[in-house]
Amino acid sequence: MTGRTALPELFARHWDVVVVGGGITGAGILLEAARRGLSALLVEQRDFAWGTSSRSSKLVHGGLRYLKEGRFALTRESVREREHLLRQAAGLVEPQSFAFGDYAGRKPGKRAFLIGLAIYDRMAGQKSRHYFGREEFAALAPNVAAGGLQGGMVYTDAKTDDARLVLRVLQEARAHRGVAVNYVAVESLLRDGRDSVSGVRLRDGLTGELHEVRARLVVNATGAWADRLRGRDDDGAGPGRGAAPRLRPLRGSHLVLPAWRLPLAQAISLMHPADGRPVFAFPWEGVTLVGTTDVDHKDDLSREAAITRGEFDYLMAALRDQFPQLDLQDHDVIATYAGVRPVIDGGKADPSKEGRDHALWLEHGLLTVTGGKLTTFRVIALDALKLAATLLPELRDKLAPQPLFGADAPGPLRYGRALPAGQAARLQGRYGPLAQQLIDAAQPGELETIPGTQTIWAQLRWAARGESVCKLEDLLLRRSRIGIQLRGGGIEILPRIRAICQPELGWSDQRWDAEQAAYLALWHAHYSLPTS
Ligand SMILES: Cc1cc2nc3c(=O)[nH]c(=O)nc-3n(C[C@H](O)[C@H](O)[C@H](O)COP(=O)(O)OP(=O)(O)OC[C@H]3O[C@@H](n4cnc5c(N)ncnc54)[C@H](O)[C@@H]3O)c2cc1C
Repeated sequence: MTGRTALPELFARHWDVVVVGGGITGAGILLEAARRGLSALLVEQRDFAWGTSSRSSKLVHGGLRYLKEGRFALTRESVREREHLLRQAAGLVEPQSFAFGDYAGRKPGKRAFLIGLAIYDRMAGQKSRHYFGREEFAALAPNVAAGGLQGGMVYTDAKTDDARLVLRVLQEARAHRGVAVNYVAVESLLRDGRDSVSGVRLRDGLTGELHEVRARLVVNATGAWADRLRGRDDDGAGPGRGAAPRLRPLRGSHLVLPAWRLPLAQAISLMHPADGRPVFAFPWEGVTLVGTTDVDHKDDLSREAAITRGEFDYLMAALRDQFPQLDLQDHDVIATYAGVRPVIDGGKADPSKEGRDHALWLEHGLLTVTGGKLTTFRVIALDALKLAATLLPELRDKLAPQPLFGADAPGPLRYGRALPAGQAARLQGRYGPLAQQLIDAAQPGELETIPGTQTIWAQLRWAARGESVCKLEDLLLRRSRIGIQLRGGGIEILPRIRAICQPELGWSDQRWDAEQAAYLALWHAHYSLPTS
C-alpha cells in the first residue's frame, strides 16, 4: 500500500496513464495498463469502491433479462466473463444456484424460460438448467408461495463481494507496479497548448493540498460521475467544450435481512407482482440480500444514495408475495443500501429499458469509460486500452487478454489453529498471495467468524494494518461488509473492533470517538430503514 507521505513524490512524476475513479472500472484499467508496462496511477476521491462498485447486487452474471431483451452480445460476453472469474477468482466469485417458480398464468412461462436458459447454458458451454415438478421444487425452494405453483426452473449464475473484488484487482495492479491512492479527488483537467488534456489538478481529501499531475493519457472512470469530469476546464467549471451530458443516473436499492429470517437454500428469482420487473433474493455472506429497484436518481451525486420509502415498500411487497408464510415485517430488515448505475441515456420512458452496455469516448485527449457491469470489467478495461493505443502506440501489440490474476501464484495456506470451514478458499480468493500474511498476523481468537457474517476478526486487523483505511466507514462498509450485515451497522461489536483496530490504525481515543460518531451518523442516514 502507498503511504500518504509518499504522495508529493508520486504526484511529481510524469505518468503514462492517470486513471480517475477507484471503482471496478478504474481498478480494471489500472491493472491492464500496469501489467503491460505502463506507469499508471489511480486516484479515487473517496474510498476505493465507495461508488457503485460496493453497492451493486453483487451478481457475476450474464443477466437473463438482457437475453429477454434480445441483447445477445452483452449476455454472451457476460457469461464468458462469469466463467473466467469463477476460475480465476475462486473463493471470491462463487457459483450461485437460482430457482424461479413457474406459476399458472404468470410470465415468463416454462417454455419461454427454458428456451432462455438453454441459450444461456450454451453460451457458457454447460448445462446447469433443470425443471422440477411442484413437489420437488417446493422442497428445493421452501417458503415460496404455493398457490398456482406448477413447478420451477433451477439454473446457475455467480455472486461475489463487489468491494473486495475491487480491492483484489487493485492488489494485483500493485503487484505490477500500478499505484492507487484513495481520498484524492480530481478537481479539474490540465490542457496543453493544443487544447488536449495533459494531466489533472488534484486535491488531497485529507490534507486539502493541491497538486498538478502530468500524464500522457487521462482516463475518466468515474462511473455515474463521468459527465462531471468530461470537458471540465482548467478552472474547474464544467461540463464545457461541447461535452453534453450523456448519462442517465438510475438508482437501485437493496434490503438486507438476517439469514434466519429469510432462509434460502437457493437464490430466488421472481417477477414483481406490480410491474413484472425481475427481483431476486439470495444468500450472501451470512445474510439474505433482496434487490433491486431501477428509478431515476435526481439527487445530488455528491451525497450518498439512499433507499426511499417507495422503493422499500416495493421490495417488501415482492417478498410478501413470494414468501407469504414468513410474515415478513419492516423491522425484519437489518440494513439497506442504494447505488447509482451509470447508464447511457437512450431517452427511454421506462428506466429499465435503457441499455446496460459500456461506452468509451475519446474527447480532447480524455478517455471516458463508463456504463457496463461489474461482471464485464475485464472486457471494459481491454476495450479502453484498445482506444488508448491510438495515443500510446506501444500498447498496439500488447492488447491480447491475459488471465486476471497470477502475478504471484499463492501456495496452500498454512494455519496451525482451526480455521472455520470454507475460510481458506474464501481468504485466498479475497487476498490472493497475501492470505498467508493475514492468517499469520491473527491474534488468539481472531480466526473465529464474527457471528452473523462470514468475516473473521483477523480480516479487520489486516485491513486496519495495511489496507489504506482512512475512515472507520472504510473498514466497516468496504474492507469488511459488517456495516450492511449486522443490525445497527454492527454497533454491538464496535468495542471489540476498537480493541483490535485502534492500535493498528494508530488513532487516539478522541479520533476513534469522532470516527465512530461519523460512521453511525452516516449509517443512519444512508444504510438504515427509511423513516418516511
Ligand atoms: C443497484 C445496482 C445493482 C447492480 N448490480 C450489478 C450486478 O449484480 N452485477 C453486475 O455485473 N453489475 C451490477 N451493477 C453495475 C455495476 O455495479 C456498475 O457497472 C459498476 O460498479 C460501475 O463501476 P465504475 O467503476 O464504473 O463506477 P463506480 O464504482 O461508481 O466508481 C467510480 C468512482 O469514481 C470516483 N470519482 C468520481 N469523481 C471523481 C473525481 N473527480 N476524482 C476522483 N474520483 C472520482 C467515485 O467516488 C467512484 O468511487 C449494478 C449497479 C447498480 C447501481
